[in-house]
Amino acid sequence: MIPNLVTSPMDGLTEPKVEPILGMNISWQVSQDRYCPGYVNLKSSLHIKCKNNGVLDAIKGERCVLCERLSGFKKGFLFRDYSSEESRYYFTQRHVLYVAIHGIDLVKIGTANILRKYDRLYEQGATAATIVGEGTFNEIMFLEDFISRTLSIAQHRRRTNDIPTVSPKQLQDAISQMRENVAKVASLLQKAGYSKHLVKLPEELVLLQPSSDSRSVALCLRQYIAKPRIIVGKIKQVFGDLLLVKRGEEEFVYNKRSIIGRIVSKASSASLPTYDQEHQYRICS
Ligand SMILES: [Zn+2]
Repeated sequence: MIPNLVTSPMDGLTEPKVEPILGMNISWQVSQDRYCPGYVNLKSSLHIKCKNNGVLDAIKGERCVLCERLSGFKKGFLFRDYSSEESRYYFTQRHVLYVAIHGIDLVKIGTANILRKYDRLYEQGATAATIVGEGTFNEIMFLEDFISRTLSIAQHRRRTNDIPTVSPKQLQDAISQMRENVAKVASLLQKAGYSKHLVKLPEELVLLQPSSDSRSVALCLRQYIAKPRIIVGKIKQVFGDLLLVKRGEEEFVYNKRSIIGRIVSKASSASLPTYDQEHQYRICS
């Protein structure tokens, strides 16, 4: 599972381009205005461009009202309204229940559509996770609440502006803590009569690679930029909502979500940041 950058050329003809983002050398000028980035078709997983391409209000949602309706996600997720074919397909897929560790010690219970289980964990910035259960959307949403209430395990994580680093020892401790909680969840579901939802072979995933001590020193040099206008450097890491870019000896952390839907002009040369307006791209996700 690798993070990708989706860009829509501004000519209106070329289809969105999907390319691996890690290690990419970039020199971007980011527009002040934010435009609707379109949506992902829940059945085909293809990126669909917005027909309106209107400027979005700074405080409103990620996409325009039309795209939100066409996507069918919000209606399905919030109101269990699967009136569109795509939404019906998506929400009738199996869903998984997972126990995750964020940072070094925050335990979280969560759910994901089986089609997006790895993406979801990745987007949320988990250090490690174990997929423990499976069922329909409604069954899994119910179990998430039930486990959270009974075992006092968080369903949400606090948003953070830092990309955590874990030493190999901390990672091992975090994994042990996760396994203890996986055992508690399994025992609870068995006792409460929900054992049919436990998967036979829990899938354990480590999403954050441990780093050496010298790496954590570099953390002090990082600068967080919430609303970037210029981004120049090499993309080192994509973590949750954050993008880590290295420029010379310095590391900058950008809010990835704040770039979605903005028009990006790419510089023709990284050393001479004059921006070529003929190559405007739209970052979609
Ligand atoms: Zn739109």
